[in-house]
Amino acid sequence: MGANYRITMAPIQALLESLHHRYRDLSSGTLASYIPQLAKADPQWFGLSVVTVDGQCFHVGDVAQQFTIQSISKVFVYGMALEDYGRDRLLKKVGVEPTGDPFNSLIRLDEDSKRPDNPMVNAGAIATTSLITGADPTERLNRLLAMFERYIGREVYVDVSTFLSERDTGHRNRAMAHLMLNFGMINGDIEAALDLYFQQCAVLVTCQDLAVMAATLANQGCHPLTGTQAVDSAYIRDILSVMYTCGMYNFAGEWAYRVGIPAKSGVSGGILAVVPNLAGIAVFSPPLDKNGNSVRGLRVFEDLSREYGFHLFDLSLGRCRFRDALQQP
Ligand code: GLU
Repeated sequence: MGANYRITMAPIQALLESLHHRYRDLSSGTLASYIPQLAKADPQWFGLSVVTVDGQCFHVGDVAQQFTIQSISKVFVYGMALEDYGRDRLLKKVGVEPTGDPFNSLIRLDEDSKRPDNPMVNAGAIATTSLITGADPTERLNRLLAMFERYIGREVYVDVSTFLSERDTGHRNRAMAHLMLNFGMINGDIEAALDLYFQQCAVLVTCQDLAVMAATLANQGCHPLTGTQAVDSAYIRDILSVMYTCGMYNFAGEWAYRVGIPAKSGVSGGILAVVPNLAGIAVFSPPLDKNGNSVRGLRVFEDLSREYGFHLFDLSLGRCRFRDALQQP
């Protein structure tokens, strides 16, 4: 039994190890510093994880290093808002259009609809978070943490120093919230909404966690190891659609073209990506390019997609060496 297991695992493990070896000495990119706490990351951190929908796990490098989830949280809070509000009501508050603007841009908030473009940019994410239901801030935070725990399969915590660091310096996000309050796109206590947004961004995860979360999305919302339904499967299509079109900052179009699977990245250096019905893949490496995407992460995914053919439009043609590698007896 053990011998069979090893033989099944070997191709994908070898693949991850060769990618780690290929890019571990790459030194380009810079750490995010606009949230002071993020500048303390080690630029050498580099982890790769794959978790399949049938629960196989493959890891290389710094996969147990904790870091704050940042923008990747937007995917999961969007799923929660879909459950709380339903697709049509949520669409009235937050659109699904890619912007072509930086993630923290305010420019388009004052245009026609006053509706933030999509839930993957900060304005849309803050509006989405402001919709999360709960009697008071504690209940809303607890619901949000419970949601992350369903995806990850263990207790999760907010990194308080990063939360406070961002709350002290998040003036652009505060400005967006005020503009949206002015336009009636968000209601209620915006300081409480901002706190919840800064807290969701400061949830601590590892690269392994991101791969499990992505695998849960790949598996119609069901955690492949615990069997917990993390989100209603009716909303997986919506979540993956906005990840596909809006998940990679101003590289979203090129990502869709070159890599071709739904993904989300964050300024702490994580990228998670979903190969539907097959696996979740995560890379963690803090140095970022000018768009805010992990430099090593982009290289790894571009090589994986090119060499192993998991671009969605390759999958539809039945060509997927990645699937073959995962299933190899
Ligand atoms: N907490 C960060 C912010 O709102 C998240 C940015 C990101 O990861 O894109 O600025």
